[in-house]
Amino acid sequence: MLSYEEARRKVIEQVGKIRGPRVTASVSVWDALGLVLAQEVKTDREYPPFDRSTRDGYAVRAVEATPGTELQCVAEIKAGDVVTKTLAVGTCVQIMTGAAVPPGADAVVMIEHTQRDGDVVRFDRAVREGQNVVRQGTEASVGETILTAGMRLGFAELALAAQVGAAQLQCAKRPRVATLSTGDEVVPVDQQPGEFQIRNSNSVSLAAQVRIAGGEPVPLGNAADRVEDLGEKIERGLKEEALVLSGGVSMGKYDLVESVLKALGAEFQFDAVAIRPGKPAVFAVCRGKPVFGLPGNPVSTMVTFELFVAPAIDLLSGAEARALPFVEARLGEALNEKPGLAHFLPARIEWRGTTPEVRALKWQGSGDIAALSKANCFLVVAADRERIEVGERVSVLVRKDIV
Ligand code: AMP
Ligand code: MG
Repeated sequence: MLSYEEARRKVIEQVGKIRGPRVTASVSVWDALGLVLAQEVKTDREYPPFDRSTRDGYAVRAVEATPGTELQCVAEIKAGDVVTKTLAVGTCVQIMTGAAVPPGADAVVMIEHTQRDGDVVRFDRAVREGQNVVRQGTEASVGETILTAGMRLGFAELALAAQVGAAQLQCAKRPRVATLSTGDEVVPVDQQPGEFQIRNSNSVSLAAQVRIAGGEPVPLGNAADRVEDLGEKIERGLKEEALVLSGGVSMGKYDLVESVLKALGAEFQFDAVAIRPGKPAVFAVCRGKPVFGLPGNPVSTMVTFELFVAPAIDLLSGAEARALPFVEARLGEALNEKPGLAHFLPARIEWRGTTPEVRALKWQGSGDIAALSKANCFLVVAADRERIEVGERVSVLVRKDIV
């Protein structure tokens, strides 16, 4: 049985092989949050475009503004003012943050380090040449590539595009990911379940996880535990760029997903992973598309999605697969787990003090969505660990949707 790291590598390797070139579209910088860039963005001019003051104060020649000296203030420069006149010897000009430092001046003295009497400014402290000035072109030169294809557009990247005037960006279209739950007991979320039925919560969590991972969810509802219904709906799902199923991959008599996929020509890359929850997870390539069969218990579905489906969506989006967002924390309460499988336990990490502290939450196993809704992370217990003591360092996988 593969470890989850090995299984992830399999997914990344296979999806990397089968993914085609991305379809792209021109998107307004206002609408491109979270998309993957499909072009280079270059600067339109130098940054900063002029020698920029980073403080409110006085622009000076540093050698003239020695402690105790006084200089005549001959002008005022606001941000946005056109600045061409050279600073006359023996003078200073009042300057605002973001304004252009005049030619001849080589430093800005913070207003807090000066005293003013009429037009005369007295300097209290020594100033270095270059102090409080960002020289033209030191952040970026003209025509410099500042964003590259494959980069994910977060708020900083979008601001950078906006700064250089790239108001429209060529972005990869979100991959369409079909989601299909299975099970005779499952009813749509807007229907009243019978006494022994359950609502299709996986349809909702899968769509949410697809969206967070950067995909466009295509929810296909639920298939009954019957070969014909399952086969038809899987075929429909294979028309999209990836297919994610929940349920029907365990050892039960009505767990038909694997056999139906096999009949459709699926090549299985793995059919179990050494994790709990989520051990029966399967991954196959069928008609050139990645197909994931995730176990149906909701927490298993969620964990295995994060581990195996999310990197596939990254790749299908034209980006690299992002690493799992692990952080290290101090264990707040001792743990005992069965060795042999890596455990992903619903847990809370708190950032009080210098080292984050994590505690596993009480839960009733992989059906317990309520426990996960109180968790902000999964505490990872490595497969070779049985008991972990208070104070030991453990790995934590943060829930990136809420942390
Ligand atoms: P399975 O993996 O098909 O054996 O499903 C295991 C259990 O997960 C089922 O007995 C249900 O309790 C639960 N389950 C399966 N599918 C769903 C679903 N779509 N939404 C919520 N819970 C589900
Ligand atoms: Mg089932």
